[in-house]
Amino acid sequence: MKFNRRAFIKSSSLITAGLFLPANKLIAALQEDLDNMKTLRNNVGIYTERGGTIGWYISDDAVVVIDSQFPDTANNFISLLMDMTHNKIDVVINTHHHRDHTSGNVSFNKICDTFVANENTVTLQKKFYGGNESDDTQIYASVTFKDKWSTKIGNENIIAEHLWAAHTGCDSFIHFENANIVHLGDLIFNNVYPFIDRPGWANIQGWINYLEEISKRFDNDTIFIFGHGASVYGGKNDLSKMKDYLSTLLDFINKNIKEGKSKEEIEGLNFLPGYEYLNDSGTNRLKNNLSAAYEELISD
Ligand SMILES: [Zn+2]
Repeated sequence: MKFNRRAFIKSSSLITAGLFLPANKLIAALQEDLDNMKTLRNNVGIYTERGGTIGWYISDDAVVVIDSQFPDTANNFISLLMDMTHNKIDVVINTHHHRDHTSGNVSFNKICDTFVANENTVTLQKKFYGGNESDDTQIYASVTFKDKWSTKIGNENIIAEHLWAAHTGCDSFIHFENANIVHLGDLIFNNVYPFIDRPGWANIQGWINYLEEISKRFDNDTIFIFGHGASVYGGKNDLSKMKDYLSTLLDFINKNIKEGKSKEEIEGLNFLPGYEYLNDSGTNRLKNNLSAAYEELISD
């Protein structure tokens, strides 16, 4: 059943309770009824509506948000924060430049002064979505970092880090140290075909190495948040599955190139061995993957 939040709030004593309840208790009360707002551990959770999964840290006196989806869904998220008596966001961090992770910045900008991202995020955002100086649809990071950025907010240590090119040229992962939760942005498309953005500096071998490095850094208790997928959070085994998919893709295309197949023939292949169960309807993702792998291997 699709839950009608407004009707619920109006008819519920939670609207009054919200004025007095600590944020985490209110989240617990709300999450039973709001299927797009979910606490994962401690004060960290996810918000899913449309576009890349939003991650959040919400304590009594601080709010940190990872990624921003779209202007309308970001406004819906703000509305939930308001219901928890929060009227400002301390920091918004963008995992990468893609529109479904950054275009809601414009909504968050109304209640947030600090936007953080890897420096390439700004470059790519300007390259693909930036208009002229008067364009007010894009909010760029006010704080950029090359490799690493960290802050202590509330009772959390939050660390954002960029290693190298993978899904794009600017992917960062954000670690909530105390909760042991890591937002991976679009480094994981869980059980769906990924999007490989070569014009946005993607590199499939880099992506494989990136996932290997992240697996080494975290433990079996770490909860990972994914940008997209059948389930948008999971564990290390989901990282292995994503890595296996990308390795199979490169190996398969390499084999086809060695057999003398042309670019057109490779793009015309309509399967990847072992992954026939993935659904490609309407997305053209398989063709995107085959062609990205071909171009990467040829250019090496
Ligand atoms: Zn993306």
